[in-house]
Amino acid sequence: MGRKFFVGGNWKCNGTTDEVKKIVSMLNEAEVPSEDDVDVVVSPPFVFLPIVKSLLRPDFSIAAQNCWVRKGGAFTGEVSAEMLVNLGIPWVILGHSERRRLLLNESKEFVGDKVAYALSQGLKVIACVGETLEQRESGSTMAVVAAQTEAIADRVLNWSNIVLAYEPVWAIGTGKVATPAQAQEVHSELRKWLHENAGAEVAATTRIVYGGSVNGANCKELAAKPDVDGFLVGGASLKPEFIDIIKSST
Ligand code: PGA
Repeated sequence: MGRKFFVGGNWKCNGTTDEVKKIVSMLNEAEVPSEDDVDVVVSPPFVFLPIVKSLLRPDFSIAAQNCWVRKGGAFTGEVSAEMLVNLGIPWVILGHSERRRLLLNESKEFVGDKVAYALSQGLKVIACVGETLEQRESGSTMAVVAAQTEAIADRVLNWSNIVLAYEPVWAIGTGKVATPAQAQEVHSELRKWLHENAGAEVAATTRIVYGGSVNGANCKELAAKPDVDGFLVGGASLKPEFIDIIKSST
């Protein structure tokens, strides 16, 4: 059986209540392939999770953009995995480069701990990995993404609730999308890494999606690559072209 195409929309820190309602209406009205063929998961900021959950069509799913590394308690400003489960939010994005690098210096071990804890609470995880431009230019792309993936593999045995998102940092929000060949190369290397380190079954079934300046115009060519199993979309997930991206595998 093939891997089901997966399209995530990461809204990041954007939107007002009215804007969020408009995006949800656009999604609800869209004609898209059946949920048997594509998983669609949108990820609003925490404060909009309840409204999106109440309005969004049932064949689309929802992810939070982060959650706390262990059981909740005295951690001001954090949101726990248990709270997400309690609210009926099935997915969470962890290890996004904006949190690894720009905002909070989240280390790969910390991200690995978060992934393991979120899974243990019943959440499904979109786990992000990716290299900076400097790292790519110095030839260490694979070493970087393998080390980030290893920090997850060290803590997780069951990969069935993980989608791995390859998101080169230089492609995020820059308009500089990876070429289909660049994406395919890293995805197939990551799959090989999974094969060697997590087993043949995990390698064959884990979806590896690409993120970084995906839009309505470049998605088809990327989606055609054999190891690109979908996308994690930032900027374009707030716009009508997100529908074209959802349809890009068909
Ligand atoms: P972008 O962001 O599509 O705006 O480049 C992707 C992401 O950060 O997930």
